[in-house]
Amino acid sequence: MEGENPSLTPQAGHLYVVATPIGNLTDLTDRARALLERVDAVACEDTRVGGALLSKLGIKNRLVAYHDNNEASMAATLASRLEAGESIAVISDAGTPAISDPGFRLTRECHKRGLTIVPVPGACAATALLSASGLPSNGFLFVGFLPPKSAARRRFIREHIDFPYTIILYESCHRIEKLMAEMVDLLDGERCVCLGREITKRFETIRSGTLKDVSQTFKDGSKKGEFVVIIAPGKFTL
Ligand code: SAM
Repeated sequence: MEGENPSLTPQAGHLYVVATPIGNLTDLTDRARALLERVDAVACEDTRVGGALLSKLGIKNRLVAYHDNNEASMAATLASRLEAGESIAVISDAGTPAISDPGFRLTRECHKRGLTIVPVPGACAATALLSASGLPSNGFLFVGFLPPKSAARRRFIREHIDFPYTIILYESCHRIEKLMAEMVDLLDGERCVCLGREITKRFETIRSGTLKDVSQTFKDGSKKGEFVVIIAPGKFTL
């Protein structure tokens, strides 16, 4: 289209890594919408979830499943389709692909083959909460999910007690009580933390304060939904 911003038109052989909302559907950028509508195919984790998401966003396009179980073979297949001149977008169920989500193998394969990879940034639960947390954000370690086994999780926390930068963790509703209990057990009650639940959604809750206070508020509140936990460096006070 004449006069249109060229970054809205997919190019042959380009992979677009497109962030989608983490709850609030109006967080999809105009560029993400245009590209998702116009690429030759959209690779997503699960075609039912991806299809439902695109339909809620009012976008129609061809979907191809790309998930943890077929990532290695699909990365090669999708890269070959790009080499043949298609344009492809990759999305995850929510937020930014490859951030605690599939996507990394595909971008790695595309780099190996000298293909062009274009990030289309947008929502990410970790940076959304960090930006609102009031905790130091000049340097941080994003860990994603801690291992499911208690001993490994406790080891990680113990080993990072004196870590000089902020730490960001993801946790599901199934393990958040366990994580909070482990933190209370191993960290000083005066340690500054931020707990974010259901970010950008109707029941969004963000609490920053000492671990003692935040864990008490957590105990009294709902444990449903999705969580991000941020731990400030030991010396920091709010
Ligand atoms: N790729 C996603 C991103 O960019 O944030 C993360 C996907 S990871 C599979 C899912 C985890 O992200 C959840 O268990 C939770 O820890 C976090 N998360 C995703 N959406 C969230 C939200 N709206 N509020 C709080 N945490 C969220």
